[in-house]
Amino acid sequence: MKANQISAPWGLMSGSTARPQGDRQGMRPKDAPQTPSHEGLFAHLDLAFKRWLGWHKTFAHGVYPVEHKELTAGKPIRRLPFADELIIPLQQHKGAPAVPIVKVGQEVMRGEPIARANEVMSVPLHAPATGVIRAIGLAPTADGPKAPAIFLKVYQAASQDALLGKRCDPEQLSPEEIIQAVQEAGLVGLGGAAFPSYVKLRPQAGRSIHTLLVNGCECEPYLTCDHRIMLEQAESLIRGIRIALKAAGARRAIIGVEDNKLDAIAHLRAHLRQTDPDGPISVAAVQAKYPQGAEKMLIKALLDQEVPIGGIPADLGVAVFNVGTLAQMGELLPKGQGLIERVITVSGPAVKHPGNFLVPIGTPVRFLLERIGITGDLGEVILGGPMMGMAVASLDVPITKGVSGVVALHPEDPALAARPVYPCIHCGECVRACPVSLNPSLLGELAMARQYQAMAEQYLEQCFECGCCAFVCPANIPLTQYFRIAKSINRDAERRRAGKGSH
Ligand code: SF4
Ligand code: SF4
Repeated sequence: MKANQISAPWGLMSGSTARPQGDRQGMRPKDAPQTPSHEGLFAHLDLAFKRWLGWHKTFAHGVYPVEHKELTAGKPIRRLPFADELIIPLQQHKGAPAVPIVKVGQEVMRGEPIARANEVMSVPLHAPATGVIRAIGLAPTADGPKAPAIFLKVYQAASQDALLGKRCDPEQLSPEEIIQAVQEAGLVGLGGAAFPSYVKLRPQAGRSIHTLLVNGCECEPYLTCDHRIMLEQAESLIRGIRIALKAAGARRAIIGVEDNKLDAIAHLRAHLRQTDPDGPISVAAVQAKYPQGAEKMLIKALLDQEVPIGGIPADLGVAVFNVGTLAQMGELLPKGQGLIERVITVSGPAVKHPGNFLVPIGTPVRFLLERIGITGDLGEVILGGPMMGMAVASLDVPITKGVSGVVALHPEDPALAARPVYPCIHCGECVRACPVSLNPSLLGELAMARQYQAMAEQYLEQCFECGCCAFVCPANIPLTQYFRIAKSINRDAERRRAGKGSH
């Protein structure tokens, strides 16, 4: 076991033994695992033993941050009340922002479309609550600059029943009709990438998808919402996988789950054994290691294939979807409903009652932290996990479709301590940590010398800003920030060159 790895082979099976707290009505989540049978117990022990032996597959390099998942892994998903006002940015996905189709003063019902997809890569937005459009203007975002958003005043006394669209049976739809329904539902990657799901289901001409990889790794510290979705929403998840298989024309699906969630692996396997033992869906355990949840790392671990430089998973005939995205696909499509809420983890040392919550899209972070409670002073508040998440400048930023968690730290948290930066000692730790085999030490030196073009020649664009190199650097060099800045300078230069060329 690595020096900074805290998990023990038997230690993280909390979901199977935790006292269920139930959903909104205080009931046991319907999908949550029951008392394990003898067969289930043996399967569990087998998984745990293989984990202990380090037999589960993974990729080369990576790091082992302290997980902190014990704070919320055993906490079933609970629904939170509505904030008085929801802030719904028009750009919540990769591609073109949605275009408002409502006016200020207009009353809307929960689930009603409020913004249409732009004609290029884009998805619509639906009202996350019944209320009235108070304004359409600029709102703070996690990225920094303000961005256009719809401000929805919630009618707290309304029933908040969701408006359902045309019910449909995905079994009866053609692949193209399913893809269109996925776009109309406003579905994007809920693991953080926020890439429109319909685009992944329809690869470009000349490419076809034969394998779906379903990402249940959730490798960021603190986050456990995907873990709870696998335990509590297995039925919707498996239905969503079947829908995606049909839409993409794929032959098989593999759900990859890190082996610090043995209860989820056993639960999904048991579910499939009961419902479709010879079907095209299987569950594979992968080693718990950061960033095992990155698309390329999951493909390497499960298929032992590498996405070519500058390529995408579809080049290998693969599409990767997060478990939360497919659970929503399985839930929303049969009802003809749009995406209006999502499951997130709210955790961290500054959170009084950390847990997993179903929250309406557009809920301000400030409201969440007030409802859930904080202890002491707030230091940084991070949207997403601490490795790749963004620290917010304002608590008025809303939860958007791509936000999987909120992590709140105290000002005195060691993670926030100012550390002196020393010159590189060429120890090679960053090279050993980089999951895409870059040379972060060399890239860092080029960044210090402002040789951004030379960085591009050293495959800077292959860096997906996972933070592993900065995490292990004994000289505290903020490598990832350097790379982020260098990439944006290179892209600006590229845009300027393209602009000049077009005149
Ligand atoms: S880990 Fe830091 S000190 Fe070591 S080689 Fe990389 S940049 Fe240099
Ligand atoms: S941030 Fe980039 S360079 Fe550093 S380890 Fe991750 S992929 Fe490699």
